Amino acid sequence: MKVVHSPEHSRHVPRFFLVNGTRQESPEVPARAEALLKAAEDDGHETQVPEQDFGRGPLAAVHTAEYLQFLEHIHARWRRIEGASDEVVPNVHPNGRGAGYPASAVGQAGYHMADTACPINEGTWAAARASANCAVQAAELVLSGGPAAYALCRPPGHHAFADMAGGFCFLNNTAIAAQHLRLGFDRVAVVDVDLHHGNGTQGIFYRRADVLTVSLHADPERFYPVPWGYAAERGEGPGEGANLNLPLPRGTGDDDFLDALAIAMKRVEAFAPDGLVVALGLDAHEGDPFKGLAITTEGFGRIAGVLAGLDLPTVLVQEGGYLNEALGANLQAFLRGFEGLQGDEAEAQEETREEASQRSLGL
Ligand SMILES: [Zn+2]
Repeated sequence: MKVVHSPEHSRHVPRFFLVNGTRQESPEVPARAEALLKAAEDDGHETQVPEQDFGRGPLAAVHTAEYLQFLEHIHARWRRIEGASDEVVPNVHPNGRGAGYPASAVGQAGYHMADTACPINEGTWAAARASANCAVQAAELVLSGGPAAYALCRPPGHHAFADMAGGFCFLNNTAIAAQHLRLGFDRVAVVDVDLHHGNGTQGIFYRRADVLTVSLHADPERFYPVPWGYAAERGEGPGEGANLNLPLPRGTGDDDFLDALAIAMKRVEAFAPDGLVVALGLDAHEGDPFKGLAITTEGFGRIAGVLAGLDLPTVLVQEGGYLNEALGANLQAFLRGFEGLQGDEAEAQEETREEASQRSLGL
């Protein structure tokens, strides 16, 4: 598997977020990406850094110009406020209440940030840009004929909307990869297996018929991202029916998750996409600090096998998955499961083709 990563991720070091009003250390730390990269290297995967900066184009294809301008400049503007914190953290929330676009840094932070789990520090923009470049490079590898590529994105992306950060996410790498695949494919499916609902990805494609968004996640009624992720959210307008949410009870394990994944696969097959993006969260693991679902390491291999069975050109985009002793092993199990089965499927098909051609030759 080709693995695209960037050392620039380490420039983003969020300090804290609020959980039920209490200040906690952010688990979205650079050591996550380091553990994942080491695991990929240890398993012999071929690693590379993006060959180029793909510029604003792929970002602007899914995010608003206003939001990109905000992300790039807000830290410097914030720091000019007397007594402001090192990190941009919103404290007013005008979004969605009919107010116009605020002029001030404080107003814009409230407008563009969904919660306190996406603090912006000096290196955040550079890290988010590099993370998105990994997703674009992985999409390029697939567009040029590779069966699959893995983008080791950090910070993650699937909670970021077209104009709003949230839940450790700034630029929606999964959506950027899906949109980039549209350059070569008419229809693209996104399957999000992260513990949390892929609300930003859903929001970006909610009114689109050309990108199917599917998410399996812990029931959001009492779990992040809370307002989104319910089965009734099916898409709107031209996108009606092109969004599928499969909320799962807290503590769901491998077998029940795989049953839900089978429903997701039927929906993807009916959509008949030309390419696939997997939003690969590893936080559904039983040992993850979020403790939402109970997937085992072996379970990730089985999930990967099912996804590989779609036999589509696939970009794997790293989303959540926090430090625990199995984090690296979970990635290894997923990549082995994916490559093993994608390879087996290809070989099996090759054999079938050979048998068919031999039959047609009367051999
Ligand atoms: Zn997550």
